[in-house]
Amino acid sequence: MIKVEDLHKSFGKLEVLKGITTTIKQGEVVAVIGPSGSGKSTFLRCLNLLEEPTRGRIWIGDQEITDKKTNIMKVRQHVGMVFQHFHLFPHMTVLENVTYAPIKVKGMTKAEAEAKGIELLKKVGLEQKANEYPSRLSGGQKQRVAIARALAMSPDVMLFDEPTSALDPEMVKEVLEVMKSLAHTGMTMAIVTHEMGFAREVADRVLFLDGGQLVEDAPPHEFFASPKSKRAQEFLEKML
Ligand code: ADP
Ligand code: MG
Repeated sequence: MIKVEDLHKSFGKLEVLKGITTTIKQGEVVAVIGPSGSGKSTFLRCLNLLEEPTRGRIWIGDQEITDKKTNIMKVRQHVGMVFQHFHLFPHMTVLENVTYAPIKVKGMTKAEAEAKGIELLKKVGLEQKANEYPSRLSGGQKQRVAIARALAMSPDVMLFDEPTSALDPEMVKEVLEVMKSLAHTGMTMAIVTHEMGFAREVADRVLFLDGGQLVEDAPPHEFFASPKSKRAQEFLEKML
């Protein structure tokens, strides 16, 4: 589903990604972990061209998104993204947040988009909040709306950048539960997370980044039981 070949990204003189090569299969759930500043967010943002790679190639499905001829807006329709700080539209209700893009970008009718929106809000346990404004929701509820909003575009892939890092501890679980049930539907997912328990339980593979390099790429049971590199060993000692 996603193929990344020798991906480099620099900001001026700072080389943040130093040649990442990996693939993510359809239906696979990949946890991206590593120290702060290792390039995890930049890596994720390259996958939907929120950052333009300096070098290397990326395919989503059979489309090379790094091809100059590719329509970036089209690519983003197929790749949902959920951020640490939700980024909901504050002046729109929950349901309007979820129906906005399907109506504007996909040309769905309001009735169609609302029917689908309510169905998705049910999935994340928030149909009773459809007419609330985001400011009246808890962090965990906001993040579940953000997930429903991304799903409303029927993406092929979902990217999550530390979706629970801004949440109070008691709200982390409700968001992880939604992500877990999404994983069980067969959605292809890449998740930057510091939730090692979640990565171990839900991910099919762990990508460990350090210093802009993909240092390990292994199933969680291998990675957590016997990380091969010193860098991963040291990271895990601090985390666990
Ligand atoms: P992580 O998500 O693993 O913490 P990031 O991908 O956010 O790491 O950042 C990796 C490095 O790239 C950091 O040193 C960060 O300061 C730098 N960086 C990220 N985005 C930009 C940007 N837009 N301009 C300049 N430097 C950036
Ligand atoms: Mg980050």
